[in-house]
Amino acid sequence: MDSSSDAHGRHKCAACFRQFNKMEHLVEHMRAARHSPHEPRCGVCGKHCRSFEALRDHLGAGGSTLPKAASCASEFAASGCKLCLRVLASAAALRAHRGCQLSRTPPMARLHHQAQAPQGGGRALALGCKMVGAGSDGSLDVVARVCVVDEQEDIVFEAFLKPLIPVTHYRYETTGIRPEHLREGMTVKSAQRRVQELLLNGEQPWKARTSRGMARLLVGHGLDHDLDALGMDYPAYLKRDTATYPPLMKTSKLSNSLRFLTHTYLGYDIQTGHQHPYEDCVAAMRLYHRMKRQQHPRSGGGADGPAASADQAFPAWRQRELERMTPEELLRLSTPDYHCWCLDD
Ligand SMILES: [Zn+2]
Ligand SMILES: [Zn+2]
Ligand SMILES: [Zn+2]
Ligand SMILES: [Zn+2]
Repeated sequence: MDSSSDAHGRHKCAACFRQFNKMEHLVEHMRAARHSPHEPRCGVCGKHCRSFEALRDHLGAGGSTLPKAASCASEFAASGCKLCLRVLASAAALRAHRGCQLSRTPPMARLHHQAQAPQGGGRALALGCKMVGAGSDGSLDVVARVCVVDEQEDIVFEAFLKPLIPVTHYRYETTGIRPEHLREGMTVKSAQRRVQELLLNGEQPWKARTSRGMARLLVGHGLDHDLDALGMDYPAYLKRDTATYPPLMKTSKLSNSLRFLTHTYLGYDIQTGHQHPYEDCVAAMRLYHRMKRQQHPRSGGGADGPAASADQAFPAWRQRELERMTPEELLRLSTPDYHCWCLDD
């Protein structure tokens, strides 16, 4: 069946199903869209969505009032998992489908098995910080508590920090932090050194800039804010940030809150009452694992990595040739513009 054009001669994108009157406009769309097998897809009709939020809207499970796809939405309502958005074969299969719904882990339970150094196969660490307020109105963020968690959700480092500048607001209602916690705290410099050491895992800092070696992946939510607060940086290609990972972002391309992501995709609530950074670390690590375990078809034509730019895949000099291709052929040439976490080992 030739699906490249419908009865009205329109050309339909093989990924997002948008239609174009002219083939050159579809080619232009493919250059811009960066579709790939790594995009979230509807389990009913196979449509690609840029983000899980867009897929939730498509399935009628999102909060927006955007028109849903009626037939996909009714199948999803009958046997779809609200958390992972998969559509199961039957309502019975949905009942048997477990594991997406997680529950809150009290930090105190994990403090007992505080690991000395990450053991076993864990190649990623999650970082979380809690800030208190400085400045005349207390709106300036100063790091007061830091936590690092391994892939088994054990705490490998945790400390209160002595603030660099006077704290004017402890934000006690949410942080639970009092002056006496910080008075005896670790210096920011020492904490930074410890975090750096855990992340580099014996690798030389200059080497980790270009090749991973022993260095660990750094998982977190809004990592740049936390790293700034600690006065350190980490190579971008080793960061796994749930605030800036395209599939987890809003359709408006803004970040979702960690609280929202945890509620929506893991099925439990965080950041209620006094907030321990451990909880943020665990939520980010769980989201990372959830994304990493996505099973995406590996396509042949080098479309796995974000390496090739759209211009390499769809060069202007091939325009005429591209316009003669089918939408499926165009899709096979397309490459994502981000590193899909399913490709992490
Ligand atoms: Zn498209
Ligand atoms: Zn993927
Ligand atoms: Zn659909
Ligand atoms: Zn599920």
